Formats: sequence, C-alpha cells, structure tokens
Amino acid sequence: MTEGTLVLVLNAGSSSVKYQLIDMLDGSRAAAGLVERIGEPAGRLVHTAADGAERELLGAFPDHTAALDAVAAELAADGLGLDSPRLAAIGHRVVHGGRRFTAPTVVTDEVLAEVRRLIPVAPLHNPANITGIEVARRLRPDLPQVAVFDTAFHTTVPEHAARYAIDRAVADEHRVRRYGFHGTSHRYVSRATARLLGRDPAELNVIVLHLGNGASASAVAGGVCVETSMGLTPLEGLVMGTRSGDVDPGLVFHLHRVGGLTVDEIDDLLNRRSGLLGLCGDNDMREILRRAGEGDQAAQLAFDAYVHRLRKYIGAYYAVLGRVDAIAFTAGVGENAAPVRAAACAGLEALGIEIDAELNSVRSREARVVSPAYARVAVAVVPTDEELEIAQQAFALVRGDT
Ligand code: ADP
Repeated sequence: MTEGTLVLVLNAGSSSVKYQLIDMLDGSRAAAGLVERIGEPAGRLVHTAADGAERELLGAFPDHTAALDAVAAELAADGLGLDSPRLAAIGHRVVHGGRRFTAPTVVTDEVLAEVRRLIPVAPLHNPANITGIEVARRLRPDLPQVAVFDTAFHTTVPEHAARYAIDRAVADEHRVRRYGFHGTSHRYVSRATARLLGRDPAELNVIVLHLGNGASASAVAGGVCVETSMGLTPLEGLVMGTRSGDVDPGLVFHLHRVGGLTVDEIDDLLNRRSGLLGLCGDNDMREILRRAGEGDQAAQLAFDAYVHRLRKYIGAYYAVLGRVDAIAFTAGVGENAAPVRAAACAGLEALGIEIDAELNSVRSREARVVSPAYARVAVAVVPTDEELEIAQQAFALVRGDT
C-alpha cells in the first residue's frame, strides 16, 4: 500500500490537458495547470505552484506525450516530479464508461480496451482520455492509474428512465440509451449539499443543476441518481452555452430533407451554434445579463428560454422524486448568476421552493443556502470540484477504502 498522499488528476481533452496535484491530507492544491492547443504551432502551458505563483511556457506541444512531458518537468521543478514517492495515484477523468464502469477503476490493459470499445459512443472525448492514460502509464508504469467516469454516477438510473422508447433490438445493437454526463460533479454536489445541510446523503432527495458551458440536471434520491438530463450524448436536456438541449428529433430530418443540410452540418449546428449562442449570439451568461439589462430583446429571449427549460426540469424531477429536500445550483452559471437562480425558482412557493433575495445576491465561493429558513425545500449554491472528487475516489480505491 502507498505511503504517498498526493494524487495527480489529469483531464485530457482533444487539444488540451488540465491537471491538478492534490494533497489528500487536506485537499490542498500542490500544483495545477493547463496545456492548451496541443498539436498546433503555438501551444501554451500555464502552471500554478502551491504558493499561487504562475509560470507560462509558450511553444509547440506536438502531441499529448510532449504535453505531459512538459507537465512532468514543471512538477519536477517544484520538487514534485512524477517520480516523487509522495505520489499515490494518478486519477484520470474519462467521459464515457458505458454501462460497465459503475465506479472508479484501476486501469489495466483490459480496462483500456473496454474504454476504447466505447469510442463510437464518445468519439470526441474517449480517444483523448485514452491517450492521457497511455502516456501517464508509460511515465509511471508502477503507479496505480485510476479511471473515474463521467457516466458512472448515472448507471443507477432505472431502465425505464434510461431507455428511449425506440425498437429495443436497434437500441441494443447500437448501444443507444441514456447514459448521462457530468456525473462526477452531480455526485460531489449532491453529497456536499447534504454536508451543508447537516444531513445524511442517504436521507436526502436533491435536484442538482450543473449549469456551466455544458449544463445538466439530475435527480438524486438518497444519494442515488435516478434521472439525469443528458442522454446518449451530452446534447440532450437543458439549453446550454452552444448546445440546443432537447429538440424534436424530427427537426434533424427536416433540416436534412427540406433544408439540405448534411448530418455533419446539423451536428455542428446543434452542438456548437445553438443554445444561448444560437438564440442571441453570446454564450456567456454575464454578457447576456448585461445585454438584457440594457433592453436587448434577443438576449432577453435567450435568458427566458434558458430559464424556461430549467423550470420544466425542476418540475419534472420534482415529480420523479416525489419529495424534494434540496435544489443545488452549481458550475459557472449556477454558482454566479443570481438572476438565473431567482428566475428558475420564482413563483414555486406552492412546491415549497422559495429564494431569499438578499441571501441570493451574496457573492461567495462557499457553499450556502439561499432560501428562507422556513422553506420546505432548501435552495443552495454549492461550488462543484470535479478534480477533488476524482482525487478522492482514486485515493480511496488505491488505499482499499472502497
Ligand atoms: P465549463 O462547462 O466550461 O466548465 P463553467 O462551469 O466554468 O464551464 O461555466 C462557464 C460559464 O459560467 C460561462 O460561460 C459563463 O456563462 C458563466 N459565468 C461565469 N461567471 C459568471 C458570472 N459572474 N455571472 C454569470 N455567469 C457566469
């Protein structure tokens, strides 16, 4: 068993790698950073040391191996190289774990092969995640590498909620079902909400609203996820920064047959040119709030459509759960945009949902309750920390705590 207490968390994207070195003794960051534009001529690495000092490295990182070599060199410069005996594990964010991976998993050749088999259902994400794991394994073959899956928390969603109502044989042949994403955040926030309220997660029903660039809702009953808004891909559900969320699937045929768009063009439209961006030309909620405040009608429509969809999901998940104890807002928009929280919860007093305007307007990085003390449902702002959750899951696994 390892004596080390540091976990390196790697989040490898197609052209970027984010990393954090976390000390599990107190959750503090021993280092953190980001490599951007991997594979392009002008790459960039920004490294933040434990004392907050930043170093920037400009240059080409031809591939993920070069990027991780550079990360390793930066960590070594802080005296925390990948050869450090203080390192207990490397935790990897893996977007798609299918139905098989329901918990954090120590990476073996067989596990890697299974993650590779899932590439058809996560073509944009799993290949980069796999590359990150392969490079890290080469750098430290003796160290446990733990895969933590975005889908894992949602594997408890019951079959009647996970199935699309389509021909079962076709669905099974192509692995079509609702998987859900952002699971690491939904798990972390649902538990952090219980902690904030001084309750046991096992006795709390929570609706978690993860509102970042991507956005998703989940219904968590007694610590177990029973419904989530993303589906086969991260396109389903809420209105997002650039993604449409729910649409009539018939829209795809219409745009193809009548509009003459190709499948790739429709994919690009719904994933990258829709949502808030499609409705008003901006995908940053700060800018939308500013424009709407000045009377800009397109920005107001984008805000209203965003909030309308959120309210539909709150209502739906209320019915799914039967009893709701808490609603937790998290991620960039959820943590910072008080007007979104206020509008999402307005007029729902009959459901026991209410917001205290004064509490809601406080800016803070701490988890906090923004509903009045008498309200039946606690509305909370709970900052997410996916890296810490990945580190905790990886550490617990290598220590044999799980
Ligand atoms: P990601 O999904 O990329 O991790 P984040 O959770 O960081 O995204 O959320 C990013 C989004 O949060 C931004 O696009 C912006 O819309 C929103 N945001 C950040 N700060 C604020 C703020 N102060 N007020 C309103 N929205 C904000």
